[in-house]
Amino acid sequence: MRSASLPHRMTLLVLREANQPVKQIQVSKPFVIAVPIAALLSISGLIISLQMQSGHTISRLEDTLRLQNLKFEAIVTDKNEAIERLQSQVITLSGQSKELMDRMERVSELEAELQSFIDKYGSKGDAGKLSSLSSLSWDESLGRGGEFIAVHDQEIEELAQETSDDFLEISAMLDEIEKNVPTTLQKAKQTQYSISGTPSEWPTLSTRLTSNFGYRTDPFTGKAAFHAGIDISGKIGDPVYAAAAGKIIAAESNRSRGKYIIIQHPNGLQSWYMHLSEIKVSEGDAVKKGQTIAKLGNSGRSTGPHLHFEIVKGDKKVNPLSYLQ
Ligand SMILES: [Zn+2]
Repeated sequence: MRSASLPHRMTLLVLREANQPVKQIQVSKPFVIAVPIAALLSISGLIISLQMQSGHTISRLEDTLRLQNLKFEAIVTDKNEAIERLQSQVITLSGQSKELMDRMERVSELEAELQSFIDKYGSKGDAGKLSSLSSLSWDESLGRGGEFIAVHDQEIEELAQETSDDFLEISAMLDEIEKNVPTTLQKAKQTQYSISGTPSEWPTLSTRLTSNFGYRTDPFTGKAAFHAGIDISGKIGDPVYAAAAGKIIAAESNRSRGKYIIIQHPNGLQSWYMHLSEIKVSEGDAVKKGQTIAKLGNSGRSTGPHLHFEIVKGDKKVNPLSYLQ
């Protein structure tokens, strides 16, 4: 390209292959200047627009990444919180379980006490039932297995909650048992004592014997006679106690016995109380062991205030001292 003679026009020479003619193109000078400028401008525009586009894309990508990051952080926080909740629940449960174990131990001691009481006094049938109840057990060392099924966090939380509820329920049950067992034991002892058919309770305050069971000289006739019971001295009005639980089958008086009471005991024995000053029970009454049934006296064939006490086994009079404590 070179300048032409005309001031406002320029000639472009297009050189092609050697054997071909040179081609001349006349163009105006402003056009020659405008074209490169326009090209320059459009290239710059393209570059700027590309830069802007890539800028947008990058910032969109950055936004997306930031959002994803936030989501991940939220998930991780949730997981951490869930783990912390589980851990604290497990800690609480283990504490409760420790407490329950201690209380189970106490209940177990009470049960053992009840068991030994029943073994001592109760029927063998009942004792068998109790021991079979307390011998229920399981052993982790024996065969165990099954399919592995993964558990979701939420299920574990629910399980922990349920376990916690169960513990509360067990704890309440134990409260009740712990409260009841000593009372039951006490009642059982009292019941055993009061329904015991063996006349073993000493029937008066005084323990001074004035006449023993067996042959003696009769205080009225001076002749040999059989004394079918024991005479215990005392003061008129002293309480007379039932030697064992039973039913009053006689509460009356005659010339020889004076005011007298006969108690029929559940195991077939009878206890007889004579020469009373006052009778406090009626025929048909149920009495407990140790209950006051009368006042000591001097009624009937008696030389002074005393209680004549007999025990009858079947239809045979036996020595009361072999029964009394
Ligand atoms: Zn007598």
